[in-house]
Amino acid sequence: MKKLMETLTADRDHWVGDGFPVRSLFSYHPNAAAVSPFLLFDYAGPYNFAPNIGEPRGVGRHPHRGFETVTIVYDGEVSHKDSEGGGGTIGAGDVQWMTAAGGILHEEYHSKVFSRTGGPFRMVQLWVNLPAKDKMSRPKYQAILSAEIPVVTFAGGKARIIAGAFGKTRGPASTFTPINIWDVRLDAGANVALDIPEGHNALLSVLSGRVRIDGTEIGAAEVARLSADGAGAVVETLEETVLLVLTGEPIDEPVVGQGPFVMNTEGEIRQAFDDFKRGKFGLAASA
Ligand code: MN
Repeated sequence: MKKLMETLTADRDHWVGDGFPVRSLFSYHPNAAAVSPFLLFDYAGPYNFAPNIGEPRGVGRHPHRGFETVTIVYDGEVSHKDSEGGGGTIGAGDVQWMTAAGGILHEEYHSKVFSRTGGPFRMVQLWVNLPAKDKMSRPKYQAILSAEIPVVTFAGGKARIIAGAFGKTRGPASTFTPINIWDVRLDAGANVALDIPEGHNALLSVLSGRVRIDGTEIGAAEVARLSADGAGAVVETLEETVLLVLTGEPIDEPVVGQGPFVMNTEGEIRQAFDDFKRGKFGLAASA
């Protein structure tokens, strides 16, 4: 079995642009290898937005290089547009998987409809690292709609398989390294054995509810980081729980990140800032 190594959480929240009230449950973990290939976990909301008659809230055009952003919407709607021509609106249950790789410019806003009506808002944005050999590859965009995400039911709950595999069921996301992302809903009083591979880092994130893992209680907006050693984990629920399970084979390479760029060396970070300043991002299409 995997062991509980630590519980991660945010001691404060902050706004990303004016649209996303975010808690960074982890971000540039002091031991990057322990959460690899994941880099950052922003939990936005739960938050109730009032109807807005002005321009939709959000964050304007900004660059990324060297990794992927994965946005999972639980409540509300987000509209995205990027310099490669990728984009669209995603709503509850949908996932947007943007591979920034060699460089992209994008903007993230509430959809026009959600902005006007307001209401509950909740989403997760993950940053997923790329191996060095793929960091400068061509950007791409996967819009993964709820209807394309298979659901597996089991005693005590169900799981939507966004990436990787759960038993024989495979998720639709295409990934660069072996990754599992499961949106798991558990009943109160459940006792569920999750089949997590040996050698994968594992982050079991409680978005709402309360669980016990390896003898420790984990509550809302807390992430249980499990050992890469061992296979499988048992989750007991004390309440009805929404759990986001992230597992992945660590990328055994140096991580140097600054602002919106995550590379392997300081020189590559300087190059990213320089390329951005010289307008070398977002040449493939005008956004
Ligand atoms: Mn972004």
